Amino acid sequence: MLTVEEALDAILKAVKTLPCVRVPLLEARGLVLAEDIFADIDSPPFDNSAVDGFAVLASDTTGASARSPVVLRELETVSAGDVPTVAVTEGACARVMTGAPMPAGADAMVMREDTRETDGGLAILEPARPGDHIRYRGEGVRAGTRVLSAGTRIGAAEIGMLAMMGSAVPLCVRRPRVAVLSTGDELVDAGLTPGPGQIRDSNSYTLAALVAEAGADIHSVQHVRDDMAATESTLRACAGLDGSLPADAIITSGGVSVGDRDFVKPALESIGSLDLWRVKMKPGKPVAFGRIPRQYSFRGGETLFFGLPGNPVSTMVTFELFVRPALWKMAGRRDLIKPRIPVKLTSGVEHRPGRQEFVRATAVLDAGIWHATPTGAQGSGILGSMIGANALIDISAECGDLAAGSEAAAVIMGIHEPNAINAIKGDGSE
Ligand code: AMP
Ligand code: MG
Repeated sequence: MLTVEEALDAILKAVKTLPCVRVPLLEARGLVLAEDIFADIDSPPFDNSAVDGFAVLASDTTGASARSPVVLRELETVSAGDVPTVAVTEGACARVMTGAPMPAGADAMVMREDTRETDGGLAILEPARPGDHIRYRGEGVRAGTRVLSAGTRIGAAEIGMLAMMGSAVPLCVRRPRVAVLSTGDELVDAGLTPGPGQIRDSNSYTLAALVAEAGADIHSVQHVRDDMAATESTLRACAGLDGSLPADAIITSGGVSVGDRDFVKPALESIGSLDLWRVKMKPGKPVAFGRIPRQYSFRGGETLFFGLPGNPVSTMVTFELFVRPALWKMAGRRDLIKPRIPVKLTSGVEHRPGRQEFVRATAVLDAGIWHATPTGAQGSGILGSMIGANALIDISAECGDLAAGSEAAAVIMGIHEPNAINAIKGDGSE
C-alpha cells in the first residue's frame, strides 16, 4: 500500500496544467496569469500633485513662516482630469488638486494646510523644497518594464495592475471543470426524507462546496446507482466520451472499496486506467486515482479520476490531501502542498501504529503558538467531527499515543475566518 506522500507524488506527476484562455479582467481573480505583462505606459503617466494645495517655485517660498508669510498671486485652479493652461512663474502659484497634472514651471507643492487665503493673494506659511509632494512621471512603473510574470496568481493587487496597464482580457490558465458523482443505492437527495435503509446524500453537496472553495468550476453533480452499466455510462459521459463537454476531473464518492456492489473501480478500468488504489492512511484508505483518455473523442486529452471513499469524513480528508493539490496544479498554481505547522495538543490523542492518521481539530493561535483540540469522536462517518475543524493533526504511521501538551504537526484546512476561530476559542462552542 502506498503512503500518503507516495500517492500524492504519483497523482501530482500525472496532473498537467490546463490550457490558457483570455478572460474578462474581473473573472481573472484567483486564476494564474499565463503571460508576462509589460507596462504600456509610465505610471504615473504625468507629473502630478500628491496633495490638495498650491504649485509653486520652491525658491519663492524661502523663509516663509506663519509670522512672515510669502504672498503669491493665484493663477488658476487645476482639478484631477484637467490640463493646466498657464505656467507658474516667479511670484505666482496655481491651485492644484491631488492627482492633477503639475503646471509647467512649478517645482513643488505646498499643502493647503500650510497656506492662508488673504485679500492680497495666497499666503504661504511654510517653505517648500523642490520636489515636495510631487509624484513624478514613471516613478511607479516605467513603460516597457515587466510588471507581472506568467505564473503569478491573480489577486486584488494584480487585478489592479492589469487594469492600470490596460490588460482588460488577460491570458490565464483555465479553471478546472469538475464532475461530482455520488454512488450508492441508499442515497436520497437532501430535500427528501429517507425511507428505511436510506440516508441523505451529503457528499455531493460537500464535494461541490470543496470544488468551489478550491477555485474550480462544477461540470455536473450527479447521483448514480450501484450498478456497473449505470456507473460506466455516467463516467463515460463525464469524461466527454459521449461527445458532450468533458470534465477535466471526476470526483466520485463511495463504491470504491471491496463491497459486493462497489462498481467504481471496474467501471473506471473498462474505460480508462486505475493508477493507484488504497493508501496507508486513516481515514480514507480506499481512495483511488486514475485517468480516462479521450483519444477517441475529438477533444483529445484526458479526464482525471478521483475515487473518494463514501464515508463523509474520508471524502473530505482525501479531497483535502489529494484532490485540492491536483486541482491547483491543473489551474497552474505552484505551491500545491500546504505546509505542516507545529501545534501543541490540548488533550491526548490515541493512535495505534500502522497507518498515518489525520485527526480533525480546532487550531487556535494563542501568543504565537497554535493549540490544537480534537473535535470529538473521530469515526470516518461522523461528519460532525469536521464542523468547526480548521486543522488536521497529522500523526505518522509509526507514532503511538500522544499525551496532552505534546507537539504535533497539523495542516490548516480550507478557508476559515479568524473571527470564527476566535469565537470557538472564546466560549468553547460555535
Ligand atoms: P461505500 O464506500 O460506498 O461503501 O460507502 C461508505 C459509507 O459512506 C456508507 O456508510 C455509505 O452509506 C456512506 N456514503 C456513501 N456515499 C455517501 C454520500 N454521498 N453521502 C453520505 N454518505 C455516503
Ligand atoms: Mg456505496
